[in-house]
Formats: sequence, C-alpha cells, structure tokens
Amino acid sequence: MLNSNLKNILNFNQDFLKNKEYKKFVTTKQPERKMVIVSCMDTRLTELLPQAMSIKNGDAKIIKNAGGVIVHPFGSAMRSILVSIYEFDVNEVYIVAHKECGMCNLDTADIIGKMIKKGIAKETIKILRSSGIDVEKWLHGFSCVEESLKKSISIVREHPLLPSKVAVHGLIIDPKTGELELVEDGSYVFETEEIK
Ligand SMILES: [Zn+2]
Repeated sequence: MLNSNLKNILNFNQDFLKNKEYKKFVTTKQPERKMVIVSCMDTRLTELLPQAMSIKNGDAKIIKNAGGVIVHPFGSAMRSILVSIYEFDVNEVYIVAHKECGMCNLDTADIIGKMIKKGIAKETIKILRSSGIDVEKWLHGFSCVEESLKKSISIVREHPLLPSKVAVHGLIIDPKTGELELVEDGSYVFETEEIK
C-alpha cells in the first residue's frame, strides 16, 4: 500500500500534468551557461542556492551529495563533472560548500550506533572492517569547511582527465541568507594564451 507521502506526490503529479505546469520549465538538456555546480544535499539549499546564484532551469548541471564534496578522483561526483564537460560543453565548475554543514564534524561512531539500533549486526561492521572497509572513516565528512572545499577543488584541478580551459571555482554559501563567499577564483585558466 502506498504511504501517504508517496500517494500525495502522485496525486499532485496528476494535477501538475493536467494543468500543464511543466510548461514554464521547458528547456534543453544542454546547460545554457556552460556550468556545473557541486553542492550539498542540505534541504535549506534546495531552492535557495539556485536563486541566490541566479540559476534557473536549463542553466547549469547540479550535482549534490552530503557535504558537496569531491571525495575521490574516480568517484561518481568527479565522473559527473567530466561527463558535463565532455558531453555538455561545460567550462566552469562551481564547488559550493556551505556554512553549518551536517557533514562538518559528523559523529560517525554515533551513526554506527544508530545502524546497530536499526538492526544492522555488529558483525557486519566487523566483517566490512576486516575486508578493508572502515565504515567510520568512510562516513567521515570534514572538520573545516574551507579546508574540505580546497581539497575538493584540488581533486578536480589536478585530475588527469580535466582539460586545461576549465575553470574550477570554490565558494561558501550561507544557508540562511544565500550570501556567497568567494574562496577560490578559477577564472585564470581563460586568461593566458600561450605564446608560440
Ligand atoms: Zn551540508
């Protein structure tokens, strides 16, 4: 049986279609402003971030995860960035971290405690650990937002598959006001033309 949230969504959806409310969102899959944004899944940013950055439907690719981080050079966030660049002509990457992030000083031991409470066997955690997966370490976010942002920026900038004319910017957004603080301006990649 459908839970009421799902049921409400499906009911709403029928009206949405009937009233052709999708019409105002019609665009192409090609990001018009040739940009990709990496940001946190924080619920306060769902509408605030695009509006504070003047991004509307069709303008940008938006990649979201817990923390708005690029953790691994060959993980899914980096793959999405590279697909945006090579398949969708993107030439600017905006990594937008935010203040008061839930991934900052995340209590990973506490999360494991909650997993066990919800029925995950302690043994499972142990087995994972013995097969080289330290769940606590894997869940860990960061202790300093600026440091974490710079780490994400350097993973992208130093990526062996990143073409040279792609700017990687780093910003921190305030989840209450939408104020943006510029941490790293990557525009320099567009400035220099090599002398032959
Ligand atoms: Zn966050």
